[in-house]
Amino acid sequence: MSTSIEGVKHIIAVASGKGGVGKSTTAMNLAVTLSVQGLKVGLLDADIYGPSQPRMLNVKDAKPESDGQRIEPVVSNGIKLMSIGFLMEEDAPVVWRGPMVQSSLMQMLFNVNWGELDVLILDMPPGTGDTQLSISQKVSLSGAVIVSTPQDISLIDAKKGLNMFKKVNVPIIGIVENMSMFICPNCDHESHIFGHGGAVEAAKELGVDVLAQIPLDLEIRHKTDTGYPVILTMPDSKQAQIYRDFASKVASYLEQYEKQKKGSVKIVFEESA
Ligand code: ADP
Repeated sequence: MSTSIEGVKHIIAVASGKGGVGKSTTAMNLAVTLSVQGLKVGLLDADIYGPSQPRMLNVKDAKPESDGQRIEPVVSNGIKLMSIGFLMEEDAPVVWRGPMVQSSLMQMLFNVNWGELDVLILDMPPGTGDTQLSISQKVSLSGAVIVSTPQDISLIDAKKGLNMFKKVNVPIIGIVENMSMFICPNCDHESHIFGHGGAVEAAKELGVDVLAQIPLDLEIRHKTDTGYPVILTMPDSKQAQIYRDFASKVASYLEQYEKQKKGSVKIVFEESA
């Protein structure tokens, strides 16, 4: 049976079929942007094999406090963060077996003092194996965002992710096509390094929405990896606008999801201009 967390209105998953597609980048930028838009946001770095959120949020040396029963999340850039990365050395290899991974994830979900949150975002481990399935079954998820690059191979993996959530009745909020195109900072020329539009095609085929097409961008890479999210450091940029539109779609999905839970409203997205 799936469980909710007291005080937390919604839990959503940000997932990908494989690693390296920008899942953590997308989860962090979504979290910070939703917080800028006025929501109370938590982020759980459940990417146990490669926890990158402490670095992306510039708190990699933080040590969460505990009273022996509950752990206090670390607050950074307006959001509450918990990560397995706080509890281990950055370059120590993780050799945990499946059940250990799952039990530590459950502890991070249920033994952290999240307080009142509008949304808790789970940065899921990459892939569609037992760990992912078990989280999706044990936690009551309002929806899942699937991140993919445009290449075929990554999309095949994304489809697996999508099907996994469908199997456990978790609604898909939509797909994010990350590294969608490269815009030359010097001449504005658009190059489609990993192909283009694959996620849009896949989304159509699978009957889900495309929430954002995020460019492969030097500022996004640099600002993400050094802990200075573009939404805060370059709020007037195109990149920040893309994350704002994306976050607004997720926020409106959650509003409608809540109404739907209470009544029977069908969720529809408005086309962005
Ligand atoms: P995953 O969580 O899927 O393994 P990450 O979010 O850790 O992937 O991203 C992997 C690397 O790619 C990071 O260095 C990140 O800064 C970079 N990256 C992610 N998305 C973009 C993007 N849209 N433009 C440029 N670099 C990106």
